[in-house]
Amino acid sequence: MADISTDVLIIGTGPAGSASAALLSSYDVENMAINRYRWLASTPRAHITNQRTMEVLRDLGPEVEAEAYLHATPNELMGNNVFCESLAGEELGRLQTWGTHPNSIAEHLLSSPTRMNDLPQTFMEPLLFKTACSRGTQARMSTEYLRHAEDETGVTTTCLDRLTGREVTIRSKYLIGADGGNSLVAQQAGLPFEGKMGVGGSINILFKADLSRFVAHRPSVLYWVVQPGADVGGIGMGLVRMVRPWTEWLIVWGYDITQPAPEVDEAFARKVVRDLVGDPGLAVELTSVSTWTVNNMFATHLQTARVFCMGDAIHRHPPSNGLGSNTSIQDAFNLCWKLAHVVKSQAGAALLDTFSVERAPVARQIVTRANQSIGEFGPIFEALGLTDTIDPVRMQANMEARVQDTPAAEKQRAALRAAIAFKAYEFDCHGVEMNQRYRSSAALTDGQPDPGFAGDAELHYHPSTWPGARLPHVWLFIAGGARVSSLDLCGHGQFTLLTGIGGDGWLTAAAELSSELGLPIKTHLIGPRQPVEDHLGDWARAREIDDAGCLLIRPDHHVAWRAPKRSADPLADLRRALKTVLSLGEA
Ligand SMILES: Cc1cc2nc3c(=O)[nH]c(=O)nc-3n(C[C@H](O)[C@H](O)[C@H](O)COP(=O)(O)OP(=O)(O)OC[C@H]3O[C@@H](n4cnc5c(N)ncnc54)[C@H](O)[C@@H]3O)c2cc1C
Repeated sequence: MADISTDVLIIGTGPAGSASAALLSSYDVENMAINRYRWLASTPRAHITNQRTMEVLRDLGPEVEAEAYLHATPNELMGNNVFCESLAGEELGRLQTWGTHPNSIAEHLLSSPTRMNDLPQTFMEPLLFKTACSRGTQARMSTEYLRHAEDETGVTTTCLDRLTGREVTIRSKYLIGADGGNSLVAQQAGLPFEGKMGVGGSINILFKADLSRFVAHRPSVLYWVVQPGADVGGIGMGLVRMVRPWTEWLIVWGYDITQPAPEVDEAFARKVVRDLVGDPGLAVELTSVSTWTVNNMFATHLQTARVFCMGDAIHRHPPSNGLGSNTSIQDAFNLCWKLAHVVKSQAGAALLDTFSVERAPVARQIVTRANQSIGEFGPIFEALGLTDTIDPVRMQANMEARVQDTPAAEKQRAALRAAIAFKAYEFDCHGVEMNQRYRSSAALTDGQPDPGFAGDAELHYHPSTWPGARLPHVWLFIAGGARVSSLDLCGHGQFTLLTGIGGDGWLTAAAELSSELGLPIKTHLIGPRQPVEDHLGDWARAREIDDAGCLLIRPDHHVAWRAPKRSADPLADLRRALKTVLSLGEA
């Protein structure tokens, strides 16, 4: 007999675990979250927060979204990605990033009701965790997962209570392993992985110093400093990352991964800070120093029948593209409505299998993208003339050659501009953030073909209502004139049906199926003199169905199914779609 029982046990209170707890509690599913430490994240680590993650926070409630913006550095201060010889020294070039280029601003505004921002993990985790606890999550800190045993009806997990030194057993219907990059849950669940851990070594130096005079005129999250010879035999690039404008900073500096992680003393850390800033007398208050490894590994299958892993547990990669905590929170958004529906007997257990089917390709994609982005600094180094010698004096001379009035220098300048512009694949990669289209039994296409992508699928978001795609955002208007996003009409743990004039049959069918399947289904009729109006015409342009067709939207905003036209038998059509998507047996 276990000491404690709950419906879902969550190991870890990082972005993945805390988001899962917040979502499950919002969906009225009993859950417990444990963390082996007594506190949440103590260093800022993840920070870039993309629009899709903000949509998850918005779904948790306007107060959650508002609090994120309250603590975040706003988008306007994020985007001057500077390459320089030091913060005080010469600038080599710049890229407008994270949705701040005028073209990109328009694309972001058109794509989502939310704004990209910079929210350090030290703010994100407490926000998600407190949302979870205030909505019913049982949290146990200083509780370490040791092992679990899964059987046909549930999972028995053994933990160590680090306050008493005693073992505690917890019985749950399901177990979520959100226990980070060294996941013991994933290991014990026997999940298959591809790739390699420890492909690079990094040192984080967290410090306080007022750097306004070097950066306030070119506000950014990231400043890349190239100092030939700063590390023996290497190119000498370091990252100065803003944590709070413009007084708290994190420097990321490399170390040779073939050697043991270095002991970083205060003197060394202070020297790196002063060198990269370019001010030998800078007053620096060091906050913390740590080492970590760059990984290139992802799970190819994410679950057993009752154990699900998410976050860094299944995708381990460098911070490039800022995808770490974003993807972790989005993993939770994918899984939690499915767990809620199964726990409440509103869906068949096979629905849970779609978690791995849908999210394993995302894990592979983001790990590959983030590691590729590191390699894509190469053309910048080549253009600066840093790759054909290891002599720092020659490197410096090569860099400086670019200012001459010669054909070779003109070519060098063009190559540098192109190389910097190419880094949009790391710093303005909107498609990677927003284009997820799921292919599984929980997205019923009825044979309608994938519309593909009009532009570069990594750089640009392409809206579509093809089943599996995220519902496109447009602004709509409800009675009284208040503006709502199409996404706001959906979510909150429930399925939603959207239709237009002539689609009343869908509304009746949804009401009937709601009681037949014991499943709340929200409905919205959109059109002139209807409860929701499309004054701008954007909905009509985005929906890709006729007025009398319908879209069935999953609780995570992805399209479950669509009927392009009026149906002769909406009840039968909708029943078939819902039963298929929810794995409820014969439709
Ligand atoms: C040093 C470092 C620097 C990083 N910098 C960046 C960055 O700049 N940008 C970026 O986007 N990403 C960065 N990341 C990655 C980012 O922090 C992660 O992607 C994100 O935190 C993943 O969230 P998660 O919830 O999956 O895992 P984590 O945040 O790692 O959380 C894991 C949770 O599980 C708990 N846990 C682990 N084992 C056990 C156990 N046995 N029992 C109980 N609890 C356990 C931990 O205490 C923690 O609460 C960095 C990561 C590291 C390690």
